[in-house]
Amino acid sequence: MSGTVVVLLGPPGSGKGTQAKRLVEVLGTPHVSSGDLFRHHLSQETELGLMAHSYMEDGELVPDDVTVEMVVERISRPDCEDGVLLDGFPRTLNQAEALKKALANRGHQVTVVPLIQVSDDEVLRRLTARRVCEACGAVYNLVFNPPQEEGVCDVCGGDLYQREDDDPETVNHRLYTYYKETSPLIGYYFAQDLLVEIDGEQSFKAVSEDLLRAIGEAAKES
Ligand code: ADP
Ligand code: ADP
Ligand code: ZN
Repeated sequence: MSGTVVVLLGPPGSGKGTQAKRLVEVLGTPHVSSGDLFRHHLSQETELGLMAHSYMEDGELVPDDVTVEMVVERISRPDCEDGVLLDGFPRTLNQAEALKKALANRGHQVTVVPLIQVSDDEVLRRLTARRVCEACGAVYNLVFNPPQEEGVCDVCGGDLYQREDDDPETVNHRLYTYYKETSPLIGYYFAQDLLVEIDGEQSFKAVSEDLLRAIGEAAKES
């Protein structure tokens, strides 16, 4: 196979999006985030976006069939021919099986699944202080990674906003959803010898170094 298919696994707030943005600069593959795709649909008020919204605001998963269709369409585009970094997908065993089939159709397979481990308390601390740029999607944290000027993106000058699902009650429900629906993927990928555990409570830099090492080693072996 050509290229590297990385599946970033970890609870909400473990740093998947933040790390993905750095990793793709090194890997040169597209970053495909199912959450970003849904939020883009919502901002365009497409039928899919409006349907997904009712699940997202409650911290529930969007049904597998529409999620799989959306992501498989995205990774079937030519820019993903040489690999892709997946963030937030798959999130259920059904989605993982659908991904496997879609990749196999094109002679690809998952190369490595880094599992970014972060405690529930840290997830709550991080997500209630998360801010996101409306224009470019850059991710900030009021405590750990604040923008230079309050409410303004360092990268593009866009306005920063708080996601409506980052309130404590919805974060708790998203964690519940993660343990119930997504954590079975840990065993699924472990059994395929693809899982690599990463300590997500280190500094931004230490986490990205561990991720790059894990991806580099897996790519060499595959
Ligand atoms: P986070 O990065 O905080 O984990 P995401 O941006 O990945 O959150 O996801 C936000 C919401 O979008 C989820 O709570 C869920 O409703 C929906 N979503 C994203 N990815 C998926 C997926 N693979 N399957 C089902 N729903 C998803
Ligand atoms: P996810 O995509 O997994 O939901 P994000 O990348 O959006 O997670 O990160 C969630 C929040 O935690 C953001 O506010 C981000 O700035 C912050 N964050 C990410 N990595 C770290 C880290 N290593 N240390 C402290 N805060 C972090
Ligand atoms: Zn920006």
